[in-house]
Amino acid sequence: MIIVLKPNCTVEQLNHFTEGLKHDYDVKVNTWVGTQSTVLGLIGDTSAIDIDYIAAQDFVESVKRVQEPYKKANRKFHPDNTVITLPGGQKIGDGSLSIMAGPCSVETEEQICEVAARVKAAGAQFLRGGAFKPRTSPYAFQGLKADGLELLREARKKTGLPIVTEIMSAAHLPLFEDVDIIQVGARNMQNFELLKELGKIRKPILLKRGLSSTIEELLMSAEYIMAGGNDQVILCERGIRTYETYTRNTLDISAVPILKRLSHLPVIVDPSHASGIAWLVEPLAMAAVAAGADGLIIEVHNNPAKALSDGAQSLTPDQFDHVAKRVFTAAKLLRTEG
Ligand code: PEP
Ligand code: MN
Repeated sequence: MIIVLKPNCTVEQLNHFTEGLKHDYDVKVNTWVGTQSTVLGLIGDTSAIDIDYIAAQDFVESVKRVQEPYKKANRKFHPDNTVITLPGGQKIGDGSLSIMAGPCSVETEEQICEVAARVKAAGAQFLRGGAFKPRTSPYAFQGLKADGLELLREARKKTGLPIVTEIMSAAHLPLFEDVDIIQVGARNMQNFELLKELGKIRKPILLKRGLSSTIEELLMSAEYIMAGGNDQVILCERGIRTYETYTRNTLDISAVPILKRLSHLPVIVDPSHASGIAWLVEPLAMAAVAAGADGLIIEVHNNPAKALSDGAQSLTPDQFDHVAKRVFTAAKLLRTEG
């Protein structure tokens, strides 16, 4: 962290300030006294220093971080990729392509079981399905809630696929005890109380990027979970808000290599919510694989026209077969070429 002091900063203020920083944080302070202003260089772990507090001191001209404010999610402190291993042996982040597929919402037993069997046959290793749905309108289908979780368990029993489903409130945590991967949706990426509770448990969390969140904000949210002791975070790029209206969101494809560079956590892409359009899922999924994603999360419905949510972006099982073949082939080719 670099702090530039105003010319009128007195020696007493300088000494008091630097002693305070050294006392309160695990940092060394290098001081360069110039003719016009004095510059402080803080060396060490500056992640806990509140930059706004520094900027608020009336003898401070400017302050700049040179080190990222996240530590546990930071590749600098953890150079090796994090590989998430589920109790059933499924891995995410080990170099293979992990695919989570299933409907936006769990609707009926027939629906979830049929889709689960089809996505498994196509090679998906995880079943997705929403039981608690964050909908823009309070009048839209809100999900089957606890009954939806029960249907997911049923589909898991029939197929052996681990289940991925969204939590919207920490109060629901007891219902999620046997969920394999807990999803935090885009709308809750900065629900810090929820993130703190998820830091206390020991199971993988799929953290989706907020609709208008920066890459750094996504990593800071991962940091919240990891600061609580839960290291099993999977990051998900699912498109962000831009001025473009053709697509539901804009897939920020550069976020994939950037996240992989900044963090050791696995990164997956959701081409369904990124586009909102079924025919765009395949090209975006291919782009994600080419950009180095560790996996994909794709919405599949046995009858998209009748889906209770996100039908327009849902693939039929036949379409998913085709997409799965293409992305697995692409991943194999790209990854053997190194
Ligand atoms: C979903 O996965 O169905 C969902 C609501 O996703 P997001 O939070 O990315 O909008
Ligand atoms: Mn959806």
